[in-house]
Amino acid sequence: MPSSTNDPQTNASSSSTGLSTPLADIGGISRRKLDRLGRLGMKTARDLMFFFPRDYEFPAPPKSVEELREGEPAALVGVITEAEVVSRNAGKSVFGALVENETGTVRILFFNQAFRAEQLTNGRRVMISGTAKLNGFRMEFTHPQVTILGDDDQASSPRILPIYSLTEGLKQIDLRGLIPPLVDQLADSLTEVMPGPLREAAAVRLGEMRIDVGDSLPDIATALRHLHAPPDERGMLAARTRLVFQELLVMQLALAMKRRTLTTELRAPPLPSPAMVDARITNRFPFELTGDQRRTIDEIRADMACQFPMNRMLQGDVGSGKTLVAIYAMMLAVANDHQAVLMAPTEVLARQHFQTLSETLAESRVQIGLLCGSLSAAERRETVAATASGEINLLVGTQALLYGDLEFKRLGLVVIDEQHKFGVAQRVKLRSGGVDPHYLVMSATPIPRSVAMTMFGDVELSTLREKPPGRGQVNTYLGRGEWKSRWWSFVRDRLDEGRQGFIVAPRVTASESADDESEDIASVESVFEELTKEELKDYRVGLLHGRMANDDKQAIMQQFARGDLQVLVSTTVIEVGINVPNATVMTILGAQRFGLAQLHQLRGRVSRGSHTGHVCLFTDGELPPEENERLKTLEETDDGFELAEADFRMRGPGDLLGRRQSGMPPMMIADLTRDVEILTLARMMAQEMIEEDPDLSDPSFAQLKQQIVRRYAKRLSLGDVA
Ligand code: ADP
Ligand code: MG
Repeated sequence: MPSSTNDPQTNASSSSTGLSTPLADIGGISRRKLDRLGRLGMKTARDLMFFFPRDYEFPAPPKSVEELREGEPAALVGVITEAEVVSRNAGKSVFGALVENETGTVRILFFNQAFRAEQLTNGRRVMISGTAKLNGFRMEFTHPQVTILGDDDQASSPRILPIYSLTEGLKQIDLRGLIPPLVDQLADSLTEVMPGPLREAAAVRLGEMRIDVGDSLPDIATALRHLHAPPDERGMLAARTRLVFQELLVMQLALAMKRRTLTTELRAPPLPSPAMVDARITNRFPFELTGDQRRTIDEIRADMACQFPMNRMLQGDVGSGKTLVAIYAMMLAVANDHQAVLMAPTEVLARQHFQTLSETLAESRVQIGLLCGSLSAAERRETVAATASGEINLLVGTQALLYGDLEFKRLGLVVIDEQHKFGVAQRVKLRSGGVDPHYLVMSATPIPRSVAMTMFGDVELSTLREKPPGRGQVNTYLGRGEWKSRWWSFVRDRLDEGRQGFIVAPRVTASESADDESEDIASVESVFEELTKEELKDYRVGLLHGRMANDDKQAIMQQFARGDLQVLVSTTVIEVGINVPNATVMTILGAQRFGLAQLHQLRGRVSRGSHTGHVCLFTDGELPPEENERLKTLEETDDGFELAEADFRMRGPGDLLGRRQSGMPPMMIADLTRDVEILTLARMMAQEMIEEDPDLSDPSFAQLKQQIVRRYAKRLSLGDVA
């Protein structure tokens, strides 16, 4: 094996160094660097060992001397000659030597590293790698990476170097000199959390997924050594895979334990749906279910027949037909003599759901109630009483459902529409009470698979990808300023044909915040004023935004739904749920201020009918190119899932669905955009392990369990497991 001499011995740690030794006591690290390391969150030896490289540098394979080019990284194999240390004043020194092979000679130089002389003696065969510089007629390498080769060593390629995330004042060379030797020294004192058989089983299954790590994932000591000082690419990948797998397995075990708690400790009323009941419900629908709707409904039927609560998320693009699935589930509860409640994020949406339910169930005895903020006290009292007595079978409402006095006679199902608009705490409240209801949340924000498996790991996921037949198409254009008047004339043509349109702007009023740029941001009030004077002065235009009184909002919405208004100028209050099939043109102003997912939801509003929809995005001012790229994806794809993946790749999970809300810790090494396969395996194996040994009581899992508890017990309230 080649042995490295890249570890400056000035940094050699004292023999009493342990994992929890403070960095200050390790020796060889200057005050200034300690300070900087502290800023990266590193206080102990252990912290440094778990400071993972963010990437690697793959040096070029060895060349001949004449192939070397000034300023280009390169490697060379040869024999040391003329090694000497030249001392200078104040303890400074230069070590220099020649490296010679059949193609020529180069010089290597090390400043103030006199110890090099002990290893780089005349006659040693070495591989050097670094950046060559021409000095006179000879190529020179200053502080190259040096690997000492035995006489028979095949010098296939130079070592792969870790690249660490830096902070100001720390250089790669500092961390490369510090971390790998420390890891090498201390790796054996780390506790292994994944027993051998588990690592072997994982390796076999990774192999089946074409991730080759050999017969076993490396043990923790090897993994850390190879991560910081890879012997070769394969070793580095195996090391990384092991650590990624471990991180994801620990998380998935915690989530599997959580899911298990839900199924063993909570009781829900079983609400079965034999074929007759199923037929009775589906016969009420005015159309055939799509394949995805059928499949999803069957998943829900299986869940609701159980005596523990369903905890399912139904995700599907705008217009994919989620409401129908929700209505099915609610009717299933009623068929079993239970109540169901549907909670929507806005009153507009709640009323729309109320309307849809009333139409679908017009000829049945099912009683439907509506509870939202704008009801009078008397109305509210009446609805609350009818809910408590069981007279109301289906209750639709907003957050107003959560306040105060609401009690159900026999609540069997809670449906939450547009889940991401609510916080977690609110979800909990509706499910408390004697027996837990089944729980269905719906989201039109498509969630990348990897995110769903982590942030919502204790939730089962159903997806509607297929759109109901006869849905309109949407064409999306990225408009430039000079197109605006042509676009308005296009909009007028559509209105003249009898269609309707939306105009969306990011702000309500022009001067909404103190920052100076706010004047340039399109606001619905200024847009409304401008358009009703000019481009759309001959049309019936309404204004809608979140600050209006509820009654006014209702009135405007109804006028638009009836067609009394042809155009609605609005903030994103129309984002969720509004269903006006005759609306086919949408203008979005200040488009760069919206996320892709949000823009996609918005444009869904004009693909509700059989007519082709048209959306034009205008931005405020000139955009940087990457911002243009981002908006361009909307022109290119109509698939919400593809968009979500793209947004995710460009911006990370970020606020996509509120990581804060989910309370999951950030990943240290796993990268959810590239480790989806490992994540999938970790989830499968975790599920199997917990099925076999629910408390992980096998002694070989003691360390693993400890880590789960340390990282997740509080976050997931896994009280008993701990
Ligand atoms: P989502 O809530 O997922 O955005 P909706 O449930 O509001 O979508 O459905 C969008 C439209 O598609 C509604 O007008 C609905 O009546 C219609 N729809 C739903 N399912 C079907 C189906 N299977 N066949 C035809 N139209 C359907
Ligand atoms: Mg909906």
